[in-house]
Amino acid sequence: MIRVAVSGAAGRMGATVCEAVEGAEDMVLTGRADPALDAPVAEVLGDAEVMVDFTTPDAAPGNVREALAAGVHAVVGTTGFGLEEIRAAADDAADGTRCFVAPNFAIGAVLMMQLSRQIAPHMPECEIVELHHERKLDAPSGTAKRTADLIREAGGEVHDPIHSVRLPGLVAHQEVIFGGEGQTLSIRHDSTDRRSFMPGVLLAVRRVGELPEPLTVGLETLL
Ligand code: NAP
Repeated sequence: MIRVAVSGAAGRMGATVCEAVEGAEDMVLTGRADPALDAPVAEVLGDAEVMVDFTTPDAAPGNVREALAAGVHAVVGTTGFGLEEIRAAADDAADGTRCFVAPNFAIGAVLMMQLSRQIAPHMPECEIVELHHERKLDAPSGTAKRTADLIREAGGEVHDPIHSVRLPGLVAHQEVIFGGEGQTLSIRHDSTDRRSFMPGVLLAVRRVGELPEPLTVGLETLL
């Protein structure tokens, strides 16, 4: 059984991760950290092999550094902070302690990013529109920034700015619109339920300990 602690356990994503871990036959939920539960991360690391973090851009880097320093693998879904804030901690972590980060754990979103990368050399000009619930703290989303990076690496030209829509009723959505002479091509992904992220999170929990590098980014690396 993989012993898993969740940080941000009282949040929308964290609570869904707790349910998913409890429902997985090969995992046991050993701790829930969250200010609302009066439980700091330090308190839940002792019993855990893997910490899953869905918190805030301010809190996540410190949580990750704390987990890695304690020899606990980190699976990170929080967006809105720079990887440079955790890279040194991953490099300095005890041998075999690993960190996995994904801006989006939904398989459909990963396919949207991969398809965008394939389209970019053929129809380089594009715009990204991302739409999220009104309580999301960061904009543009981590998924949109990662999509833009992948498209640019493939020779595409992502127009500025990335468009961010924040409204009640939304969960997590993104459209990439490519335009060429006389034609457009749109790829859209909609997460209508936070359960869409759970197979990816559980896959990362199962695989994080065997990753070759101290820090790995993107669910596509596990598929
Ligand atoms: P949320 O509902 O606001 O949950 C965040 C939780 O973390 C809150 O309960 C918050 O408590 C808690 N928290 C704050 N500081 C903490 C700390 N130091 N230690 C432990 N817990 C702490 O947000 P959410 O909608 O679940 O989203 C969480 C993050 O996941 C966001 O960055 C979001 O963009 C990202 N996300 C990623 C994916 C993906 O697939 N990678 C998918 C969806 C969302 P307080 O309210 O008391 O501050």
